[in-house]
Amino acid sequence: MSTIRPKRSLGQNFLVDPNTARRIVDALAVPTGGQVVEIGPGTGAITSLLLARHPQLIAVEIDQRAVQALTEQFPDLDVRHQDVLDIDWKALAGQGGSRLHVIGNLPYHITSPILFSLFENTSFVAEAVIMMQLEVAERLIAKPRTKPYGILSVATQLVGRAEILFRVSRNVFRPRPNVTSAVVRLTFPQEPSGVEYSGRLREVVRAAFNQRRKKLRNSLAAVAESAGVEVPDRWSNRRAEELVPEEFVELTRYLTR
Ligand code: SAM
Repeated sequence: MSTIRPKRSLGQNFLVDPNTARRIVDALAVPTGGQVVEIGPGTGAITSLLLARHPQLIAVEIDQRAVQALTEQFPDLDVRHQDVLDIDWKALAGQGGSRLHVIGNLPYHITSPILFSLFENTSFVAEAVIMMQLEVAERLIAKPRTKPYGILSVATQLVGRAEILFRVSRNVFRPRPNVTSAVVRLTFPQEPSGVEYSGRLREVVRAAFNQRRKKLRNSLAAVAESAGVEVPDRWSNRRAEELVPEEFVELTRYLTR
């Protein structure tokens, strides 16, 4: 197997297998002229493949040394030296005039904040192909009454659709990580279903799962009190893990009066 060699060590897990790089890039379904944003390109393991297909590629990278190396290697690449969590998705989408296609292999400790940032911006993001820890990927697609079902499952399933495309061996990274990875494709429908994962809904879901074994009348007592109402009888004796995602939307309506 030929390998992609990171030029310098930036203290992260870099992809070194061209076949895996190609499979990740193949997972993006970009219409002609669609705008692609790569987050955390590092030493460019998938960047060259992306650039060949999407010359308007925008890359967002926090590490100055990586930014410099990318600029040298790909003089035409639009590299932004920026924290992905500070991205103004609306402004980026406005530049190209269409919703964005996001792709990336990032440090796993920021997977959740990135996902929530995307969930709050589905008007500007059509699709995201993200490498993540398998355990997190399983949470995105988990069903009620299962152990992985939680905040990430409810949020993901309310705003779009997630598919685990394939698992990725630890051996295709340098250094070799301690966890198994997976590539996930998230698609966010063009016409919003009316659900925005933010504000009160986010607060209710978080409070309910923070005490997931408690009945909702207890776990949501403070939220209900702040709204001057009680948790309706229909839900009060149930637990967070028993509710399907849409029920949280309905419940939030009662707790917002
Ligand atoms: N995508 C490359 C690959 O697959 O080999 C690099 C992966 S490496 C795990 C993660 C990359 O994300 C690093 O280049 C790191 O500097 C960058 N990164 C980490 N945190 C970031 C952030 N908050 N915003 C943008 N880039 C970030």
